[in-house]
Amino acid sequence: MVARVIPVECFDLVIFGATGDLARRKILPGLYRRWKEGQIPEGAAIIGAARSDMDAERFRELARAALEEFLAPRDLEPAMVTRFLAMVDYVAIDARGDGGWQALADRVRPGMVRAFYLSVAPALFGDIAQRLHQRGIANRDSRIVVEKPFGKDLASARALNSALAEHFHEDQIYRIDHYLGKETVQNLMAVRFANILFEPLWNAQFIDHVQITVAETVGVGGRGEYYDNSGAMRDMVQNHLMQLLCLIAMEPPHHFEPDAMRDEKLKVIRALDPLAPGDLIRGQYRGRDGDDYLLESGNPDSRTESFVAMKLQISNWRWKGTPFYLRTGKRLKSRVSEIAVTFKEPPHSIFGESNQWRENVLVIRLQPDEGMDLRVMIKEPGPGGMRLKDVALDMSFAEALGNDLDIPDAYERLIMDVIRGNQTLFMRGDEVEAAWAWVDPVIAGWEARGDRPEAYDPGSTGPEGALMLMHRDGRRWREIR
Ligand code: NAP
Repeated sequence: MVARVIPVECFDLVIFGATGDLARRKILPGLYRRWKEGQIPEGAAIIGAARSDMDAERFRELARAALEEFLAPRDLEPAMVTRFLAMVDYVAIDARGDGGWQALADRVRPGMVRAFYLSVAPALFGDIAQRLHQRGIANRDSRIVVEKPFGKDLASARALNSALAEHFHEDQIYRIDHYLGKETVQNLMAVRFANILFEPLWNAQFIDHVQITVAETVGVGGRGEYYDNSGAMRDMVQNHLMQLLCLIAMEPPHHFEPDAMRDEKLKVIRALDPLAPGDLIRGQYRGRDGDDYLLESGNPDSRTESFVAMKLQISNWRWKGTPFYLRTGKRLKSRVSEIAVTFKEPPHSIFGESNQWRENVLVIRLQPDEGMDLRVMIKEPGPGGMRLKDVALDMSFAEALGNDLDIPDAYERLIMDVIRGNQTLFMRGDEVEAAWAWVDPVIAGWEARGDRPEAYDPGSTGPEGALMLMHRDGRRWREIR
């Protein structure tokens, strides 16, 4: 199957933080894969920038090593890699200093799409934006891409927005939430808005509840110090889980167009009820043999949560009365990201008491094995009378669309969208601020109470309290398999 791809114009992409982990693991490999697929035009330039003093040849070696480390062997063809690296250049720049900016100004070319990817600490966003502007390197047509974390509360997010807004218009700013670049997440929009099937049922009258799970097996590891100042609520909920919630709960936008989409997502965040303390469980993994949050974070008295589960209510006509349960955590049993939409019981069963009814559930799997399944009731085959059974109408994207389907990584898609100038899958400033405005009082509440997170075993499904959060409502979490 040949996918139709919208071509991109020739571009200069400057990656600040080009020697860092994200650039090596995601950005450079992602660009190579798109280039290999013929989506990056000949003549495009990728310009690395960081403080480290090195020439372009040395940076190309570093980039080659990154491709070899982070791409599958089948992606790597030495001749292709060499041709790709011919597009790559490097300029040594300190975001807070004066050196290097003129070299960058000389390097970028007129008439090209110009994009700046800030894969650096957010504290540097303002400095870089200001210098790009002052030196005339960025113009009204340039695009600037910023990474998470976009602030640690409403005040800091506002400060970042203002620092960027001094030099860039909102339509030039691309705030990355890589969850939005995932194939299944976009498919969620296709399922909702390209089929008549679900939309009439997509409301509190027919949906019992929604569960969103993002479970990781890794702990905080080497990011312990950073993570301890953040925690699951800031690191995962404020951005990724809230974005997924918005896509599930939003009204159909009038068009699949950036502001129409983002207006509808914003309305969802604004309609969220404040969280009651009893509707939130925080957890921290505590184990032996070094598998322990307090050891890994280097903070023996840490009250930072590595797990959070909560029950959210959306106060609008569509959703009043349908709870949304969210959970995310580290060092859990397995790595799973999914959204499960559980439908209500039919109003009356014609098949009698002996047939146990099971809920219809639509599961959207983000990882592993991106795909969807819908659990429906059927008649059990055979002569045993009218016995019902629930089965999955299962669609793995890889199977449905060809086993060799090579689903692009979220970063690949998002970088290409930046070059195309399509902001649909990026967060707008007011969305980010609204999410912080909802999260801030929740965090302030537990900080004021001095709450300690509940301990859970590494490799488990999280703390007991999270199970109870569902049990008390007569529901249960889906298994983390
Ligand atoms: P990192 O490994 O620490 O890399 C930071 C990069 O910034 C390096 O290239 C560093 O190179 C450069 N840098 C530091 N200070 C600089 C300065 N004053 N001027 C110019 N360059 C400077 O960090 P990272 O993990 O790649 O993360 C980058 C950003 O992406 C962070 O905001 C992070 O939160 C975010 N992010 C990362 C990931 C991930 O998986 N890594 C995921 C999501 C978001 P020099 O030391 O040579 O200057």
